[in-house]
Amino acid sequence: MIAIFIFVIPLMIGLYSPIKFVKGVGDKMADLLASELEIKTVIDLIYYFPFRYIDRSKFYKISELSDDLPYIQFKAKILNYRTDGQGYKQRLVATVGDENGTLELVWFKGTKWIRDKFAVGKVYVFFGKPNFFNHKINIAHPDIEDIEAFERKKMSGFQGIYTIPEKLKKKYIGLKVFQGLYVEIFKTGLKIEESLPNFLIQDLNLMSLSDAIKQMHFPENNEKLNRAKHRIKFEELFYVQLGLAKTKKIRKRFKGHLFNEVGEYFMQFYNKNLIFELTNAQKRVLKEIRKDFGSGIQMNRLLQGDVGSGKTLVALMAMLLATDNGYQACLMAPTEILANQHFVTINEFLRDLEINVRILTGSTRKKQREIIHEELENGKLQILIGTHALIEDKVKFENLGFVVIDEQHRFGVAQRAKLWKKNKLPPHIMVMTATPIPRTLAMTLYGDLDVSVIDELPPGRKEVKTLHATDSSRLRVFATLKSEIAKGRQVYIVYPLIKESEKFDYKDLEDGYESISRAFPAPEYNTVIVHGKMKAKDKERGMQLFVQGQAHIMVATTVIEVGVNVPNASVMIIESAERFGLSQLHQLRGRVGRGSDQSFCILMTSYKLSRDSRKRIETMVNYSDGFKIAEVDLKLRGPGDMEGTQQSGVPIHFKLANLAEDGDLLSLAREKALEIVEKDSEFEFEEHQILKKQMDLLKKSNFGWEIIS
Ligand code: ADP
Ligand code: MG
Repeated sequence: MIAIFIFVIPLMIGLYSPIKFVKGVGDKMADLLASELEIKTVIDLIYYFPFRYIDRSKFYKISELSDDLPYIQFKAKILNYRTDGQGYKQRLVATVGDENGTLELVWFKGTKWIRDKFAVGKVYVFFGKPNFFNHKINIAHPDIEDIEAFERKKMSGFQGIYTIPEKLKKKYIGLKVFQGLYVEIFKTGLKIEESLPNFLIQDLNLMSLSDAIKQMHFPENNEKLNRAKHRIKFEELFYVQLGLAKTKKIRKRFKGHLFNEVGEYFMQFYNKNLIFELTNAQKRVLKEIRKDFGSGIQMNRLLQGDVGSGKTLVALMAMLLATDNGYQACLMAPTEILANQHFVTINEFLRDLEINVRILTGSTRKKQREIIHEELENGKLQILIGTHALIEDKVKFENLGFVVIDEQHRFGVAQRAKLWKKNKLPPHIMVMTATPIPRTLAMTLYGDLDVSVIDELPPGRKEVKTLHATDSSRLRVFATLKSEIAKGRQVYIVYPLIKESEKFDYKDLEDGYESISRAFPAPEYNTVIVHGKMKAKDKERGMQLFVQGQAHIMVATTVIEVGVNVPNASVMIIESAERFGLSQLHQLRGRVGRGSDQSFCILMTSYKLSRDSRKRIETMVNYSDGFKIAEVDLKLRGPGDMEGTQQSGVPIHFKLANLAEDGDLLSLAREKALEIVEKDSEFEFEEHQILKKQMDLLKKSNFGWEIIS
């Protein structure tokens, strides 16, 4: 006798199985999931988390419903059905009621089926999102369940709500289908391997990955859900920090030039040229730099400080240390105007010191260029200031020891790297930014650098008074201007310039210039206009008139954002201020308040403002600290839209973690990452094998960053 055994093997799926092996997913659905949500494999699906949860153990009363509630459920009796509207507007309306209220439910499709299935006079469980329509609350297309069926299912607490794109909804792939997919997946006994080392899970009392993922989709209660989120956020932040910590550690293996000598240049400057006392913050930062210079290891440092906090001076003194030790130094600025200004300031600072300083930009003449190239190669040129022109291949130094990059956020990581190759031994690098970056973002964007902060302004500065005004008070604003000008002060009036609407913006600017010229007529008043579309020569002339104090008013676009330094200018008017971002407003405001007079910044806006615009304006009026402003900016815009974050090459889009909110967790992740890398940067220890494996996986995924190299 032959026995035929047929084994029914349950279909085993793994993390990397294509999504169509999940029960209930056909080819069409698999295609849609891939094209709309980039869900291709099981792991993509299990990492697609609900954006919100609703508590299915809680029943609302109809009288409690309002349109700011998310999805909710309630028990009510169907009182009657009626049909409203004609043609495509035709809809089925059911009135339902509980002890103390009634509510209308609306269906546009499948109306016959609803009417047949759910009887008038019977109580059901309804589930949906309350909306405000025609002066009252209603719910469109609610889910309905029999009370008995609902109770049989024993809904446990929270239920996940997933974002579902329209294209899927049209194919009837809705919330229930999604929830069903997760039920199927977890039924198969899918193995989710741990991705964090055991000692971290123990030390930090973290939930296992497997439990965390299940809780994310089917939370048993609020506490477990929070632990699950905590665990997953930690992991996201931790691996980014681990990558950065490793890069930082590897960098520390690069030998650096030794600048042991504090020589003639520095001492002369310090004793003779420097006419004021350094602030404590400046002293502290200089100490940090000197420590790096004397360590024999290459410096990679970020110098953060608000506009006017005295970064340039610190940079200059550090450059003098390089010069004292026989090395060349350079300073790279993002624009020609800024490079020019650095050049002028530095020359003033250095007055009668015998030191060879030159400037190289895109508009440097050929002859001058040749001199610069020659002096760079024979070592006569000690300090070079310039723009991107500095990183061109043909610019060769004899012995470049120190590089300062101003306004780093406009340069990418790759450009930073290019400067390294300018010498056999990479130069020390200091990046300066006047756009304060919130701590959490700095840790992520610049996590591979050491960070110095100048958090103190030179003494005697008066805080800029910031006011918000609308068109109706324009006359009063003009009166203020007149009285300031009568005191001998100068005024900036800035108009927004946004690429998409350039034409209109220039019209605004020109109309503005005309009306200002009428309100402030020549020859009593002298008004200049400066914008990017002018010929360089005319622009330069306008700027010079203002810088020399011959023009009272400068009407401009944001070209003045970086660049001009006119201590006598005490009023900044920003037109259509609601159209500027916070960091830009802060930068603009930094153009005034540079002298000892009381300065003003007046933000002109239209009367009606969006919520975010209002928040930005209020923030400017209430705060002057750039770091505080940056924190608000991060909360309003999210890290992806913060200036410079796109070019950084560091992933900042997390699935769950949020740089604006998870600062403490980020610090913890960073601390742990640094500890690990300190002990074992190659992840060779037994207990670190999992880190190695995970980093390799991340490198292969589209996590793509330039940091893990
Ligand atoms: P930042 O580069 O941070 O915007 P700067 O270096 O341009 O700031 O300094 C702004 C102004 O303050 C300059 O005119 C500079 O000479 C002056 N300054 C810098 N440090 C001090 C100080 N310790 N005391 C007084 N003035 C200072
Ligand atoms: Mg500066």
